[in-house]
Amino acid sequence: MKKVVEGAISLFFPAECRICKRSLEPLNRSFICSGCWSKIKWVVPAYCSRCSKPLPSCHVPGESSPLLCRECLREPPLYTRLLVPTLYEGVMKKAIHLLKYERKEGIFVEIKRILARFLEQNFLTFSQLDEIIPIPLHRKKLRQRGFNQAYLLARFMSRFLEVKLAHSSLLRVRETQSQTKLSKQERAANVKGAFRVKNGNSFECKTILLVDDVYTTGATLREAARLLRTFETKEIVAFALARAP
Ligand SMILES: [Zn+2]
Ligand SMILES: [Zn+2]
Repeated sequence: MKKVVEGAISLFFPAECRICKRSLEPLNRSFICSGCWSKIKWVVPAYCSRCSKPLPSCHVPGESSPLLCRECLREPPLYTRLLVPTLYEGVMKKAIHLLKYERKEGIFVEIKRILARFLEQNFLTFSQLDEIIPIPLHRKKLRQRGFNQAYLLARFMSRFLEVKLAHSSLLRVRETQSQTKLSKQERAANVKGAFRVKNGNSFECKTILLVDDVYTTGATLREAARLLRTFETKEIVAFALARAP
């Protein structure tokens, strides 16, 4: 009944797409029209085999040695791979912003579709996992925002893949300032010592997927992976919904 009423309301009072301002299709509750969603930029080859950074087109996937970006050659991260479906620009940037700062949870309907597609395409990698851990927010920030977007992603992935969600094993014990205006070095210093692990011994010999929403310089995922590695995990794999181009 609720759906019928909502459908009728959206037919008579169509909301507009938050990007192109055209009327949304009836029953579209994702705040963005399907035309705009279709403009999402996917991460496509060639990219770094470690951090998925897009690489110049002269690189061909399947070259004899695995492709690595300059940064991963110089200072390899402590996770084996960053898996990331999309680029953090245009539609995706706006969508994540709407979810995070305007609490437009309808956005998540479409994000789940993107996740499902990516999980199916990379099923082999994801089938090796033992546990999924979302990057936590500090409890103060969690209270302000009301939800942790990384947790929403991790919970969906855990259900989809039938892999255990260990959402209270990694804690954010230090409040960190917003990273948006910080340089790469400042970000690394900002998250240093920000996390603590509960029951660390339970991670021994486990393959763990760390989940975050956005990958910018990678400072947060690097720090969390560094800490988890001290508990003799077998492997850490990282996931972000979108990465800076
Ligand atoms: Zn649109
Ligand atoms: Zn790289």
